[in-house]
Amino acid sequence: TPVDACDFTVFGGTGDLALRKLLPALYLRDRDGQLPEGFRVIGVSRADVDDDGYRALVADALREHVVAEDLDAAVVERLLDRLHHVTLDVADVAAWHQLHDRLKDGAASDDVIRVFYLAVAPGLFGTICEHLDEAGLVTERSRVVLEKPMGTDLATAQQVNASVGRVFEESSIFRIDHYLGKESVQNLLVTRFANTFLEPLWNSRWVDHVQITVSESIGVGERGSYYDRSGALRDMVQNHLLQLLCLVAMEPPTYVDRETVRDEKLKVLQALRPMTPELVDRDTVAGQYTAGLCDGSPASSYADEVGHASSTETFVALRTEVQNWRWAGVPFYLRTGKRMPERVSEIVVVFKEPPHAMFPHSEGPTEPNRLHIRVQPDEGMRLHMTAKEPGPGGIRLRPVSLDLSYATAFGGRSPDAYERLLMDVVRGNTTLFMRRDEVEAAWTWVAPILERWSQPSHRPRKYPAGTHGPVAAVTLIERDGRSWQETE
Ligand code: NAD
Repeated sequence: TPVDACDFTVFGGTGDLALRKLLPALYLRDRDGQLPEGFRVIGVSRADVDDDGYRALVADALREHVVAEDLDAAVVERLLDRLHHVTLDVADVAAWHQLHDRLKDGAASDDVIRVFYLAVAPGLFGTICEHLDEAGLVTERSRVVLEKPMGTDLATAQQVNASVGRVFEESSIFRIDHYLGKESVQNLLVTRFANTFLEPLWNSRWVDHVQITVSESIGVGERGSYYDRSGALRDMVQNHLLQLLCLVAMEPPTYVDRETVRDEKLKVLQALRPMTPELVDRDTVAGQYTAGLCDGSPASSYADEVGHASSTETFVALRTEVQNWRWAGVPFYLRTGKRMPERVSEIVVVFKEPPHAMFPHSEGPTEPNRLHIRVQPDEGMRLHMTAKEPGPGGIRLRPVSLDLSYATAFGGRSPDAYERLLMDVVRGNTTLFMRRDEVEAAWTWVAPILERWSQPSHRPRKYPAGTHGPVAAVTLIERDGRSWQETE
C-alpha cells in the first residue's frame, strides 16, 4: 500500500548512513510502488552540491549498495527525480531560509507529511529541532527521526530527549533501533504470540537460560574516533542487545499497538536486576582485541587501529536476570564484540532437561532442547530436539533439528530493516521505535557498569582478533555449569 505524500528531509543527506542505508531503502520502497507521486526527498548537508550533483551522488550510491538484480533503471530515474539538496550548516541561523523555501515551494503544502531524519551527530539534534521550530516548519503532520547514539549516558540522553521534546510531541519522535526493523525480530513476536505451543514453556519453569550473541568480524575501521569514546556497552548493549532481551522476555501485550508493546518492553527493562559494583565485577566482562587472524587475514589490534593505547572495550559479556514472576532465577547471558570469528546475531533459548530420564540405558548423546533464533544473516529459526536414531537395535538417541529458513519458506528477498522502519515513520507508527522512557531505563540500568568501568584501575581483558572474546567470558557462563552455544 502506498504511503501518503511526504517531504522526507534527511539531515546528513550526503553522509555514509544516508547513502548506504536510507536512500537504498527508499529506492526499494519506490520500486515496490510504495512512494506516491509528490513524495520528495530533500538531502540537507554542508556539502556544496546542487540538485543535480546530489542526484549523481545518490545514483552512484544506489549502484554500489543495491544488488544489481534489484536495480531498475526506470525506478532509479523516478527516485532521482524526487531528490533535492539544500546546502546548509545547521548551526548557521541565517541559512535556514533555504530549507524553508525548499519545503514551501512546488507542489508541497503545509498539509503534506514532513519527516525530518537526523542522520547527523546527536550534538546537533537540539539545534536542528530548535531551528525547525523557529522556521515554522514543524506542522501537526511532522515527525522527527533520531539515530543512535541516543546520548552517551543517562544525563546526556535526558538532554537530547528534552531538547527534541521541546519541539516535537513524543508521538512524533521516532528513535531508531534498526534491530527492531529486522524481519526475524518481528517474527519473534509472531512466533511467541500467534502460536500456542511456545508460550506455556516460555518461563522459569521450563527455560533454563537465554543467550543473546551479536558478533561482528569487522574491527572499528574508519569509526575509530567515534568508537573510542563509546565502546561496545554504549554502542551495542544499551540499545540493540537490551531491545532483543525485551522482546524475548516481555509479557504478551494486549494488542500489537505502539504503546502496549512499548509498555511491556519498559517493564522488562525496569525488572532487570540492578547492577552493584560487586555484580559488575562478578557478572560483566569487558574485552579488547589484540592482533590476530580474522576471516583468514591478519587483523591489527584495536590500539593500532585507533592509533593509541586505549581502555575502551570492543567486547562485552554479561549475565543478568529479569526479576519478575515469569523469569525469576533464569539467567540471561549477553555478549557482543568486534573482531569475533563471524558476523552473526542470534538468540538462543535453552530449555531444561526433561524431569525424568526415561531412557537411562540408551546410547548416544542427549542435549537439552534449544530454540535458536537467527536474527542475521540467513534469518530463521532452528529447534533442537532429541530423536530416536532409526534402527532395529536398542534405542539410540540423537540430536536433530527442525529448521525454518526464511529464504526457503517464503522465498524472495528479505527487506532491509530500514525499508520497514522508514515507511513506519511516514505512516506515523511508532511501535518499532524506542520510547523516551525505554531509552532512559536502559541507560539507568547500564549506568553502574559504566561507572565501575570508568575507574582508572579498570582495563578490558585482551582477546586475539578472530576469537570469541576473553577467557573470562567463558568462565562467566561456565561457572554456572553452562556454556556458550555455538551460533549456527
Ligand atoms: P558522516 O560523517 O558520513 O556524514 C555526516 C553528514 O552530516 C554529512 O552529510 C555532513 O555534511 C552532515 N553534517 C555534518 N555536520 C553538519 C552541519 N553542521 N550542518 C549540516 N550538515 C552537517 O556520518 P554518518 O556515518 O552518516 O553518521 C551520521 C550519524 O548517524 C552519526 O551520529 C552516527 O553515529 C549515526 N549512525 C551512523 C550509522 C552508519 O551506519 N553510518 C549507523 C547508525 C548511526
